[in-house]
Amino acid sequence: MIQPGGVIGIIGGGQLGRMSAMAAARLGFLVHIYSPESGSPAAQVAARHSIAPYEDLEALRRFAEAVDVITFEFENLPAQALALLDSLKPVRPGPRILAISQDRLLEKSFLNEAGLATAPWARVESLEDLREAAARFGLPAVLKTTRLGYDGKGQAVLRSETDLAPAFARLSPKPLVLEGFVDFAAEISVMAARGLDGTIRCFDTVENRHRHHILDMTLAPAPLPPDCLAMAEEMARKLAARLELVGILGLEMFVTADGRVLANEIAPRPHNSGHWSMDACPCGQFEMHIRAVAGLPLPPATRHSDAVMKNLIGPEDMALWPRILATPGLIPHHYGKREARPGRKMGHYNRLFPKGGLPGEFGIEAALILKEI
Ligand code: AMP
Repeated sequence: MIQPGGVIGIIGGGQLGRMSAMAAARLGFLVHIYSPESGSPAAQVAARHSIAPYEDLEALRRFAEAVDVITFEFENLPAQALALLDSLKPVRPGPRILAISQDRLLEKSFLNEAGLATAPWARVESLEDLREAAARFGLPAVLKTTRLGYDGKGQAVLRSETDLAPAFARLSPKPLVLEGFVDFAAEISVMAARGLDGTIRCFDTVENRHRHHILDMTLAPAPLPPDCLAMAEEMARKLAARLELVGILGLEMFVTADGRVLANEIAPRPHNSGHWSMDACPCGQFEMHIRAVAGLPLPPATRHSDAVMKNLIGPEDMALWPRILATPGLIPHHYGKREARPGRKMGHYNRLFPKGGLPGEFGIEAALILKEI
């Protein structure tokens, strides 16, 4: 167990690192951020900062020597860098989990082996493989890169035979993954944390709504039947146990019209779809993550309120900022990024409701000042 005054090293300087660092400070830890850029959102609120590329093994060694434990908010570190860190200090979650979540093929195999249902999928090495798998699953289908895909980048929806060859040529590197198209009724996720002693805590299942492939809004809890929420939680719990996770992960899932829950993606870190918990739970996802990483006990992931989280993306959403500040009940979180480029996550805000009091569709938009009442 790391004592107050101990140093938590975080790889990556974005908003997830920033909010983790703020939670760590509340528990009496010092945070050391490692990131290539200066003045990053995380470095602004951290005690210490190394500025160096993710490939700089010497700088990584110095960083590891200066901290007590290492975690990530950016998990696409080169394998060699990860191995070096792992040889010097505890890395939580461990390299095996990062390797699985970095590679869609490993991830899908692992999910299925752990007993979690997914959309049908196939490894695609050649155009021949793609034709064969597309014939098997039928169209539409979704072709994805295996590595470095996020927010809908690195994927193509194939709607007709003529889409196959151009999509195969455009997406790289190979191999790719073809997935059957899920005509989902909702997208949901669960944040699951696991402590050093094996205790698992799951936050309630939430619904995620996207705009232009980027998370726009999270509803906590998801307005879905209780058995569906429970099934999703059970899947995340099973996954955290099977991975022997120490830390937190987000499991993204689809709910089909006939009520099946299909796993889609693992994020082995705090996740945008868990931001509601910062204000709606006594111990939110960032504190839960830091507690797990530092070897502290994990309290239950109790939710005292219902909540809606709204992301602030790019200059368009940031135009709302003055109104957000002027509206009682909205809880603002600014990431400290200077430039509001289109598509960039600049902040978010939460609104709480009494438990069981999440409003219907129109009410949510009004509560988030997106619509005048
Ligand atoms: P991913 O990069 O796998 O997280 O996918 C990004 C988004 O694309 C998801 O949030 C879905 O909205 C959509 N998507 C991904 N895979 C599928 C699929 N097999 N069927 C339908 N939509 C999908």
